[in-house]
Amino acid sequence: MIPIIQRNTGWIEVVCGCMFSGKSEELIRRLRRAMIARQKVAIFKPAIDNRYSEDHIVSHSDNKIPSQVISSAEEILQASLESHVVGIDEAQFFDASLIDVCLKLSNMGKRVIVAGLDMDYRGMPFEPIPHLLAIAEYITKMQAICVVCGNPASFTYRTIQDSDRVVIGAANIYEARCRNCYIPPPAEEASVASNGKEKSAGKKKKKKKKKVKA
Ligand code: ADP
Ligand code: ZN
Repeated sequence: MIPIIQRNTGWIEVVCGCMFSGKSEELIRRLRRAMIARQKVAIFKPAIDNRYSEDHIVSHSDNKIPSQVISSAEEILQASLESHVVGIDEAQFFDASLIDVCLKLSNMGKRVIVAGLDMDYRGMPFEPIPHLLAIAEYITKMQAICVVCGNPASFTYRTIQDSDRVVIGAANIYEARCRNCYIPPPAEEASVASNGKEKSAGKKKKKKKKKVKA
């Protein structure tokens, strides 16, 4: 349970899960409640993710809240000095410096709410989220609904082949799938997929090969 009374101490909350699991919705819900309670709220998202808006966090259900776009985690520190609550979406797109930023903010007495993918499309832990999960006081793992069978989904399946770990896109190239229906990418793709490059989806659509789960 997340405490509703702030006793002059800060903490870290992490909301994780696969794509479409409701992470942004949950982050927006928590931030809205804090705003209703007249707490000062600072909200950030990485510049890399401008899929739906430059100045809002927008969920797949079109729920939105104003946010600041930043290109490095360090910018959060200076921009949230006056805030009680700090919200960060798509945290998997920041580097390891986000960990130190979250620690500093929470040690300053702030409530830090971080939302992000816990696994990439290969089913591998998506840093820095695993580290944040370890140091957080409160963690929430969300599930989507598997588009194949309807079971709870924890995996993000990429419907196109691409060797880059990050390909920005949504329903056009990603699907939420359960463990049974998730198919890992071919080994040769996965082995070169951590090069940190990113690109926008849709430009390089290749024909999907039929794969059989081992
Ligand atoms: P996340 O931030 O985890 O990617 P969002 O909060 O942006 O997720 O969006 C959640 C919304 O996505 C749901 O309320 C629903 O409207 C929509 N959605 C699309 N596909 C699915 C799915 N397979 N399972 C559940 N919700 C889905
Ligand atoms: Zn399934």
